[in-house]
Amino acid sequence: MPNWNPWHGCRKKSEGCQNCYMYFLDAKRGLDGSQIRRNQAGFGLPLQKKRDGSYLVRPGSRLYVCMASDFFLEEADPWRPEAWEMIRSRPDVLFCIPTKRPERVERSLPPGWGEGWDNVQLNVTAENQRRADERLPILNSLPFRRKGVFASPLLGEIRMERHLAAGQIGEVSAGGENYAGARVCDFAWVEGLYRQCREAGVGFDFWDTGALFSKEGKLYRVPYRLRRVQAAKAGLHLDGPLPPFVPPEELDGGQLRLSLS
Ligand code: SF4
Repeated sequence: MPNWNPWHGCRKKSEGCQNCYMYFLDAKRGLDGSQIRRNQAGFGLPLQKKRDGSYLVRPGSRLYVCMASDFFLEEADPWRPEAWEMIRSRPDVLFCIPTKRPERVERSLPPGWGEGWDNVQLNVTAENQRRADERLPILNSLPFRRKGVFASPLLGEIRMERHLAAGQIGEVSAGGENYAGARVCDFAWVEGLYRQCREAGVGFDFWDTGALFSKEGKLYRVPYRLRRVQAAKAGLHLDGPLPPFVPPEELDGGQLRLSLS
């Protein structure tokens, strides 16, 4: 999946951060994941163009933001306005922003946000019951047109019926944990979320078993290359109420109409 990492590095926030893959990969390169820095080379990615003048990030793309940090990190406050400006300038790209800091979102929204922009989806991480109960009410209260939940790495059974009942959350995706120290993901937890989403009319996707996966009391060590394949085989997918992202119509000369204000 295409990523945009305008900054790099993070502070651990909750249980799901214990084996953060960014810290793991940084350590392998002799770097310290707690060093938060603006990504000089990649900061302007959404506006970068190829030689032929077309955007590097193609119209209609779904771009995942800050997968090696958190978009709403306090240390990124000085850089975020410029990032919002780039997001505003590309109404033809869907920016999916995951966060473990929904309590910082409202104060971090840009001027002219209103009820939200069509090209932004906020995904709040809920790795266990405690974080679901803490973060999903905040997600429900925030002005976004597209809202989702990342139940990943899924660390236990989660009951989120009452949060889904508010009718704000469009999709939930669940997955296990990868990399060093990975904890077990149990199929029963995934099935439980699938059932809750089906009853609430919310989209659902089980996208990754993680490295350690248990089903009916049996523990499996799943090779990296099979984790997504095996998850897809489970067939736990539901289409939800979120409409497909359709970029605004292209105008003559490849110029895009800016429909956001
Ligand atoms: S919020 Fe994400 S990037 Fe930051 S420490 Fe936690 S898992 Fe890592």
